[in-house]
Amino acid sequence: MIRGTLLSVLVLVLVFTTLANKTTYSGHALYTLAPEQIADGVYVFWGRQEPLTPENGGNIVNTGFVVGRNSVLVIDTGPTKHYAEEMIEAIRTITNLPIRHAIVTHHHPDHAFGIQSFKENNTNVYMHPSSKSLLANEGPPLLDFLERLIGVEWVTETKIDEPTHNVETVQNIDIGGRVVKILPFTGGHTPGDLVVYDQKTRSLFTGDLVFQGRAASIPHADISTWINHLDSLLDLDWDQLVPGHGPIVVDHIPFGELRSYLNFLQHTAKQSAKRGDTLAEALQTTIPVQFNQLATIKAEFQRSIISLFRKHEANDFSSSTSTK
Ligand SMILES: [Zn+2]
Repeated sequence: MIRGTLLSVLVLVLVFTTLANKTTYSGHALYTLAPEQIADGVYVFWGRQEPLTPENGGNIVNTGFVVGRNSVLVIDTGPTKHYAEEMIEAIRTITNLPIRHAIVTHHHPDHAFGIQSFKENNTNVYMHPSSKSLLANEGPPLLDFLERLIGVEWVTETKIDEPTHNVETVQNIDIGGRVVKILPFTGGHTPGDLVVYDQKTRSLFTGDLVFQGRAASIPHADISTWINHLDSLLDLDWDQLVPGHGPIVVDHIPFGELRSYLNFLQHTAKQSAKRGDTLAEALQTTIPVQFNQLATIKAEFQRSIISLFRKHEANDFSSSTSTK
């Protein structure tokens, strides 16, 4: 009898859970975000080292938050409205303090498409002005692209939104008992990257200026500037670093690996141009073994070479027309 009652309760719970999910998420799975504490008051939602797929719903990015005495500061807003809503719910399991600030490290979909949920939550949203305009211009086609890769169920209700605050120079935000710094590192991974540094625990969130164990994405990058930024990031006084993608960084090894990969891309593109290769020929380049272990290497390598080729063609065109 007790067993029968327990069973019916369990069935009811399952039915209600499914209904609740359906109401909020149009029937698709949840991200089931769970924050991990990496230092006192500093939490991370680790993304998967995978390409964007209907299975992961775009949960391939690291986001996080820092809890002060008065408020919470979030780093990156995730790929969709649903992700951001789940982030807010998950933060509520740790603290009820207001989520007063959200720093968006750059305009790429996995970092910036959850902005609207934080604004609905009365959170101030900060971006570099270059990222703000890139998000406004490229956001709509990037959202279509994201929908094609992960499916409409995940992106439903997601809208491209804009930040409430611009960050062009170093800013300190006091969240009570701790000061969090926002530092611009522009023109490297994208024209408008920001990094976030928690002084109290010497934790650094770099967004996509650092990738660990995953092939870097470069469509908006200037590789030489990016490599210079890596040196400046090494000079900052951090004990642990949360990259945009990949596990926590506690030493300088991932910097060397990323620098070699970026150099390899740049070198491959230059050599191909020198030889007058076609794009198809450049894409035949053998990827050195040391990079074969990187997640998403094949797809990212192709995307990178295509993008570097286009840049090179555009430069050639402008230099030939400027001489006329
Ligand atoms: Zn990015």
